[in-house]
Amino acid sequence: MSEFADKVVLVTGGTRGIGRACAEYFARMGAKVALCGRTAETAETAAAQIGHGAIGVQADIGAPSAVDAMIKTVTDTLGSISILVNNAGITRDGLLMRMKDTDWDSVIATNLSGTFYCCRAAVRGMIKQRYGRIINISSVIGLRGQAGQTNYAAAKAGLIGFTKSIAQELGARNITANVVAPGYIQTDMTAGLSEDVQKGILDRIPAGRLGIGEDIAGVVGFLASGAASYITGAVLPVDGGLAM
Ligand code: NDP
Repeated sequence: MSEFADKVVLVTGGTRGIGRACAEYFARMGAKVALCGRTAETAETAAAQIGHGAIGVQADIGAPSAVDAMIKTVTDTLGSISILVNNAGITRDGLLMRMKDTDWDSVIATNLSGTFYCCRAAVRGMIKQRYGRIINISSVIGLRGQAGQTNYAAAKAGLIGFTKSIAQELGARNITANVVAPGYIQTDMTAGLSEDVQKGILDRIPAGRLGIGEDIAGVVGFLASGAASYITGAVLPVDGGLAM
């Protein structure tokens, strides 16, 4: 039996892309999986497609009251959350001088504040059960920056400081908190990149290919596993060597 059997896992942004691959990974391992998306319909459809008893819950993770309600629903339905994968994220790219307040605010709200709201709400149950695994999905852009992505880079870099801080707060309670920093992964988020841009990116990736969701899910699974119980506050690039 898998070590994740009957563990309650919440994956934010689990309807598509990387989050979906993570939700599928844990569901296959016998965990009780909840995934969240912006609409009930997309979340429930993804959960039904994944099967294994996965449930879909709706929340805009940028809204603290919606997050509190979503965590309560998951806890009431499946039990206290043991593994939290903060994955939901958006891009609103633009050069600094032209960046609108709404583009800055929405990226910070979803990509940074959303993770704070989810951790704050879920950690109470983890402390009670003296067990928790928090995996926050940042980006190589949070490590290196990127022209045209000041909002995204600030949020993703912010996640790293946030995660290291909660790792220190919660370490003695058998709760680990780590960051995965993906490189370029084939999802809806990168589908809009022009062929030229994709080629330029490919040239810089030592592994010679873009990543897929499963490349990230496997590492998230490792960080949630007993094998990684002595890893906390770490930042793991999963990028085919791009960030080195
Ligand atoms: P996708 O665009 O494919 O999926 C984004 C997911 O986030 C969807 O499930 C979406 O739900 C959800 N989401 C977005 N906003 C909210 C919100 N306010 N509340 C709840 N859910 C929300 O993205 P990826 O799979 O590519 O990316 C996943 C994470 O990985 C992101 O944090 C991203 O920044 C990061 N990342 C991605 C990389 C890549 O190359 N793809 C590289 C590095 C990091 P819905 O379906 O309802 O819209």
